[in-house]
Amino acid sequence: MSVLVVADHDLGQLSPATARVVHAVSQLGTVDVLVLGHDTTGVAEKASKLAGVQKVLCAQSLGTAEADVSVVEALAKGYHIVAQSANSCGKDRLPRLAARLDIMPVTDIVEILGSNRFVRPIYAGNALQTVTDPQPRHLLTIRASAFPPAANGNAAPVETIDVPVVSAAQLIATHRTESDTPDLAAAQIVVGGGVALGSAENFQLIARLAKKLGAAIGATRAAVDAGYAPNDWQVGQTGKIIAPDLYIAIGISGALQHLAGIQGAKKIIAINNDPEAPLVKLADVALIGDLFELVPQLIAELDQKLP
Ligand SMILES: Cc1cc2nc3c(=O)[nH]c(=O)nc-3n(C[C@H](O)[C@H](O)[C@H](O)COP(=O)(O)OP(=O)(O)OC[C@H]3O[C@@H](n4cnc5c(N)ncnc54)[C@H](O)[C@@H]3O)c2cc1C
Repeated sequence: MSVLVVADHDLGQLSPATARVVHAVSQLGTVDVLVLGHDTTGVAEKASKLAGVQKVLCAQSLGTAEADVSVVEALAKGYHIVAQSANSCGKDRLPRLAARLDIMPVTDIVEILGSNRFVRPIYAGNALQTVTDPQPRHLLTIRASAFPPAANGNAAPVETIDVPVVSAAQLIATHRTESDTPDLAAAQIVVGGGVALGSAENFQLIARLAKKLGAAIGATRAAVDAGYAPNDWQVGQTGKIIAPDLYIAIGISGALQHLAGIQGAKKIIAINNDPEAPLVKLADVALIGDLFELVPQLIAELDQKLP
């Protein structure tokens, strides 16, 4: 089977998610990687090093999902499978492509059982569904955090292709949120805060602990809705899916919609004054007490140990 993986990249860097998607689908067949955009030489070079990649294709695009999809659509007929990370770009592109190709996509795949059998979460991650896709061609989005990355060391050829781009939409501007903390979706440590923090000022406590640990900052929807944290920090069913080595959840009850976003976390520490909170029960380690006492103590300890 032939597979086309649409790469994710930003600021000239190949997203770590693409290496994981390549690893996931390389068990299905030979993988070509498509890099869309301008000045993508560095990205293409990194993609060419990934194990399992047969060829890297570079094509121009206009930066809109519509334009990207017109290119992928032109190439898709040469492949049995088109795959992409289940991030916001994948969620934007794949349904459009599915409509154009009249193929039902299979989304949010966390396990691949065979050439057309896939496992995906349903009911906000409370159950796993095994799907058999009987269509001759497949469109897939892959939850990158569920798979290890492909190894480096390959030297696949890079080819520039000329595919006409069709788009009524035009990209006028891109606004970037600047931050000195790691990207939430890729961070190894995440410190998350809940509505119990009580204000945006108090959320600085979370930021101080995160900075000390080199961690990304997450928040519950209740904290975001209350205006204590920006929208792009939200973790959960309607926020970001994270898979850090360590998640420190502070003043977070552990509602199902929040848990849906942290299932990939390898270790969880909960700080909460309620020993019965669902997240306390789920955590590997729980500190029971007032967060306004425990977190400053923790920061003070770390100040001594990690100057
Ligand atoms: C359709 C839908 C989608 C949703 N999507 C999301 C989502 O993506 N992400 C998300 O997070 N939520 C989501 N929610 C909301 C979710 O249901 C919960 O309301 C939310 O996660 C609760 O946030 P919280 O834990 O901050 O608040 P609470 O549930 O109020 O929990 C606060 C916790 O802090 C503890 N606490 C209070 N004071 C202190 C203190 N001083 N010291 C220590 N602990 C203290 C309490 O014991 C409690 O456990 C969604 C809801 C719906 C209906």
